Amino acid sequence: MKSYIFAFLSFLVIKSTVAQRATPDEVSTSKGTLTIQPIVHASLVLSLKAVTIYVDPTGGAKNYNGLKKPDMIIITDIHGDHFDPKTISDVRTSTTTIIVPKAVADKMPDSMKNKVVILANGDKSTQAGIRITALPMYNLPESPTAMHTRGRGNGYVLNIGGKNIYISGDTQGIPEMRALKNIDIAFVCMNLPYTMNVDEAADAVLAFKPKTVYPYHYRGQGGLSDVNAFKSNVEAGDKNINVVLKNWYPS
Ligand code: ZN
Repeated sequence: MKSYIFAFLSFLVIKSTVAQRATPDEVSTSKGTLTIQPIVHASLVLSLKAVTIYVDPTGGAKNYNGLKKPDMIIITDIHGDHFDPKTISDVRTSTTTIIVPKAVADKMPDSMKNKVVILANGDKSTQAGIRITALPMYNLPESPTAMHTRGRGNGYVLNIGGKNIYISGDTQGIPEMRALKNIDIAFVCMNLPYTMNVDEAADAVLAFKPKTVYPYHYRGQGGLSDVNAFKSNVEAGDKNINVVLKNWYPS
């Protein structure tokens, strides 16, 4: 009886932890089904049957309960909502590759550096069969005192089984974003004063026309950005772009 009660309580704990997460989406690729799991703010998990990728894992291992351990961790920038060494060390395994810009590597403890791959803006690398391209991410106008200076952080395009997935990192609607081609799925930030407002984000998305776009990283100083306005703006400009709204801020 005791073990039955324990099992039931464990079930409740797991269920309540997982229940807060946004529902995952599934996309077919040449390497099988890709599962997209929003976690929180800038963090998401992309998984194929054989490969699991954590993007900007933060908030503790509990945010990743029930998910496979990462084969790869991808970090965009140095700030705490993207680079959280405690969460990285709690979720990674001895074989997890960590993809980072140099500014992040410079802040890593030595114990974390053995499986690190440093990419600068424009660099490419293939890891676990996934082609990774690092892209600029920065504030406009460019300034040495901007919150995001050009060259420090990376946005990324991941080619996963033939699908191009863009992760913006913290940026404004920079020319490099607007010039992207053949993006299947985009994760685009929109929060003030750190990145851009929803109008600028919609305008940039209408320039590069991803097939699907997820607003993410949308909590700013004044609360959550109006992602419904973003969706209406994008749909008014191009009804072929699928805007997917998820709850990136589970309670
Ligand atoms: Zn951020």
